[in-house]
Amino acid sequence: MQTISADIVIIGSGVGGSAVAHQLAGSGAKILILERGDFLPNEPQNSDAEAVFVQSRYKTRDEWVDARGARYRPGQYYYVGGHTKFYGTAMFRFRASDFEATEMGGVPSPAWPVRYDELASHYTAAERLYGVRGKAGSDPTEPPRAAFPHAAIPHEPTIAALSDRLSAQGLRPFHMPSAVDYGPGGTCQRCGTCDAFACQFDAKGDAETRVLRPLLAHPDVRLERGAEVTRLIADDRGHDIIAAEVRRDGEMQRVEAPVFVLSAGAINSALILLRSASQVMPDGLANRSGVVGRNLMNHHLTGLMGVKPFALNETKFPKTLSVNDFYHGLPDDSEARGNIQMLGNIQGAMIRATYPATPKALANWLGRHSVDVLAMSEDLPNPDSRVRLLDGDKVEVDYRPGGTLAHDRFVRHVKRVLRRAGFPVVLRHGFGIQAPSHQCGTVRMGHDPASSALDALCRAHDHPNLYVVDAGFFPSSAALNPALTIAAQALRVGAHLRATRVT
Ligand SMILES: Cc1cc2nc3c(=O)[nH]c(=O)nc-3n(C[C@H](O)[C@H](O)[C@H](O)COP(=O)(O)OP(=O)(O)OC[C@H]3O[C@@H](n4cnc5c(N)ncnc54)[C@H](O)[C@@H]3O)c2cc1C
Repeated sequence: MQTISADIVIIGSGVGGSAVAHQLAGSGAKILILERGDFLPNEPQNSDAEAVFVQSRYKTRDEWVDARGARYRPGQYYYVGGHTKFYGTAMFRFRASDFEATEMGGVPSPAWPVRYDELASHYTAAERLYGVRGKAGSDPTEPPRAAFPHAAIPHEPTIAALSDRLSAQGLRPFHMPSAVDYGPGGTCQRCGTCDAFACQFDAKGDAETRVLRPLLAHPDVRLERGAEVTRLIADDRGHDIIAAEVRRDGEMQRVEAPVFVLSAGAINSALILLRSASQVMPDGLANRSGVVGRNLMNHHLTGLMGVKPFALNETKFPKTLSVNDFYHGLPDDSEARGNIQMLGNIQGAMIRATYPATPKALANWLGRHSVDVLAMSEDLPNPDSRVRLLDGDKVEVDYRPGGTLAHDRFVRHVKRVLRRAGFPVVLRHGFGIQAPSHQCGTVRMGHDPASSALDALCRAHDHPNLYVVDAGFFPSSAALNPALTIAAQALRVGAHLRATRVT
């Protein structure tokens, strides 16, 4: 088996992994990024709904099983830049209260071992890195912050009208923070596809375009594509990680380093740790607490189509509006709570991919006569909500969402809000774990090694040279999109590594 070595090995080139590489580049350390995917091809199909949704052109061909043993192809995307190649560019900071302990219906949602104040400067750095556009002071639940790096993207007429109608109901809609290179001199072509599509014009602020690509010019940063880490190997005491086992072109390689940063995504990082079980660590690495693979969360995500039969929606970039008036609960129901934000344009092919019996003409008509909104609520951690390996290497995702009834009450309220805003028909669709777009929580951090895998700097309690910086580290999910929080914490970890691990 071929052996290669580096000073710091980063596994996965998504938000977490690329942020750590960004902090370490230029430190003198040899950084090796191991990424199982390749560059996403730039091709017309990037923005073709038929190719993306009906043919699932970019989804992994791997199969997982659910708790009943049914096989499915998960909505997982393995490319340089990770899931941000397809993400919707909403770049929210979590609220200060999201870092505190809460509960819903008696189910606890633990405090983070880091508070908003400790992350604030890293959020600022992450917003700069991703080129986030927004308007400070307009979101009523926003934590203390300075101006955004770029001005907010203006609403197009249909969205401006919706914003007015929401304001008329006494709500405080605001400009959604978004990482798109939009506006004069920007690369955005207003092609009308963004959320869940890849960008042919590099206008989307994704981890490859904004973070990794500039690093690759650096002589000390090396990206190995098609390099799938199967497991990590610890020393005989189970203390330090000494190597990663990597599958490349059907051959196995061994990669050695003094420091390993795991960032393969919440589900895959947990699987790598579990697959790394040995005689000394029979439950897998970083898993003395038994939490690895557990507490899988994904947000409650419900799409709502507000249909107006006689109005054509010609909006190109709808993701400019959000509402947080119900983030801490409805006036008479504190548990029915969450964020409301615009989805990207829903096209007929996307509807048919989920509801194949829908006639093409009807699906296309709905796509053109609706505004599309996402209602998002916190998912609660549950140790029985988990990923695990069965019969050797079969991946089982036994997902158990927490807070479903409260989310349903929230969605019913959002439907009423949309009807009052002039949409006589509002259709709803729940996004499930088959597309685990906001997966998190499977390698949670905390102060107590008995109930968490990682400390406040994402270092494994059990292994002093192992860090995990993807969304697996979330102790709770909040009710806002995760990418900016992953980036902020990973930048914090990267700064710590540069200060302490690099000589
Ligand atoms: C359609 C869609 C829309 C979204 N919209 C938004 C949004 O608007 N705002 C937001 O904040 N979030 C959004 N998200 C979620 C966001 O994209 C993710 O939370 C974020 O990208 C996760 O980053 P990560 O670093 O944790 O993991 P990932 O992005 O999953 O990165 C992990 C990387 O590791 C690689 N990898 C996996 N296994 C291995 C292995 N064994 N060996 C080597 N490499 C491996 C993967 O290929 C990948 O590149 C969206 C997600 C999707 C799918």
